[in-house]
Amino acid sequence: MGIRLGCLADDFTGATDLANNLVRAGMRVVQLIDVPEDRIDGQAIDADAVVIALKSRTTPASDAVDASLRALAWLRSADAEQIYFKYCSTFDSTPAGNIGPVTEALMDALGADFTIATPAFPDNGRTVFKGHLFVGDVLLSDSGMRHHPLTPMTDPNLVSVLQAQTGRPVGLVDHTVVAGGGDAVRTRFDELRKEGVGIAIVDAVSNRDLVRLGEAVRDLPLVTAGSGLAIGLPANWGFEPSAAAAQLPPADGHAAVVSGSVSDATNGQVLEFLRTGRPAFSVDPLRIAAGEDVAGQALAFAEAHLADGPVLVYSTQAPDTVRAVQGRLGAAEAGELVERTLARVARGLVDRGVRRLVVAGGETSGAVVQALGITRLRIGPQIAPGVPWCAATLPGGDTLHITLKSGNFGGPGFFTDSLALLDGEAS
Ligand code: ADP
Repeated sequence: MGIRLGCLADDFTGATDLANNLVRAGMRVVQLIDVPEDRIDGQAIDADAVVIALKSRTTPASDAVDASLRALAWLRSADAEQIYFKYCSTFDSTPAGNIGPVTEALMDALGADFTIATPAFPDNGRTVFKGHLFVGDVLLSDSGMRHHPLTPMTDPNLVSVLQAQTGRPVGLVDHTVVAGGGDAVRTRFDELRKEGVGIAIVDAVSNRDLVRLGEAVRDLPLVTAGSGLAIGLPANWGFEPSAAAAQLPPADGHAAVVSGSVSDATNGQVLEFLRTGRPAFSVDPLRIAAGEDVAGQALAFAEAHLADGPVLVYSTQAPDTVRAVQGRLGAAEAGELVERTLARVARGLVDRGVRRLVVAGGETSGAVVQALGITRLRIGPQIAPGVPWCAATLPGGDTLHITLKSGNFGGPGFFTDSLALLDGEAS
């Protein structure tokens, strides 16, 4: 038997967010980093759902379409029964795409005449009402997304936002219909189809709405959404929330934290770790730029402390310090130097017996995963909203437990809380 749900996500941490929601709703999930070269059949992958993480949110639309079609082909070869295209819950896109063009291409490839689009994720404060997206208490266009450097969102009306990206007519299933339940929603789908609508924005202001919608889309070959809809889909195959879905192999080996995020939340987490008096090594980009072997120094420090508990290696600094460094080295150059160094550190830590690794930072996570040669993650229990533990098989065959936290996620105690959770799971 193949997989049930085949998902493609337009960025890495978004993929993890979706996988995490599916696991919490009872599916066993594997996340793949980019489309594998080989065609593994659904049985070999041993999961109910597969999420393929792409980097297609802000690439040229034609590249996003190509990558998405490759992902689709792989998922179909694994016998996926339904396809889920996952994008950001703030509908990050430009008039050129990429949500519209990718949706159209997937519909064409699947022969689908109708699909839905909803970024709603009420647990994260993203709700859709009369087709308008709210972020917390304000319209999308009044939120910080208005000033996003790559995908500024200045129109909160998702029907018009999506219509600008696609030739297929876009319609709306509003909250009064959703409140009526699955049959009412399906009836509305049929009406919209008759009107020639190809993609329907669907309102959802609560988890109950998403559960109703999940039931209503049971027979659609393709759904497109943020990660919220994931809470409503697994029940269509009879899955129920269970600890078994999040089961990972037992954890052992040394523990370490590698942090390259400079977000407020991560700054708080580093401070909390330092406050507890645990061993920590600060990576200074200026010393890397001066030619010092900072990765080697960090690894020598870690080696001396790993036996006593988790070691932190961090480049995380307050915004002022980061700006000063960026002023001297250039933001891109500083970022790259740090990412390369932290990736080498992660590799060296694993070589020294670390098998439980916490990584903070989206870009940093990408660099670390690449350096470790990880292409596949089994998704385990949630640590904080949107952040699960994962298990990867290292090239040598050992299991590495790894969590990849994007910047602003997690509470102050995230670094040690996550490791404590893993110990609890393993026992
Ligand atoms: P987040 O998820 O918080 O955005 P990322 O890892 O995606 O974290 O991005 C942080 C970026 O900042 C990375 O490119 C990283 O290399 C860079 N960076 C980290 N520490 C520093 C520092 N001390 N000075 C300058 N840039 C840094």
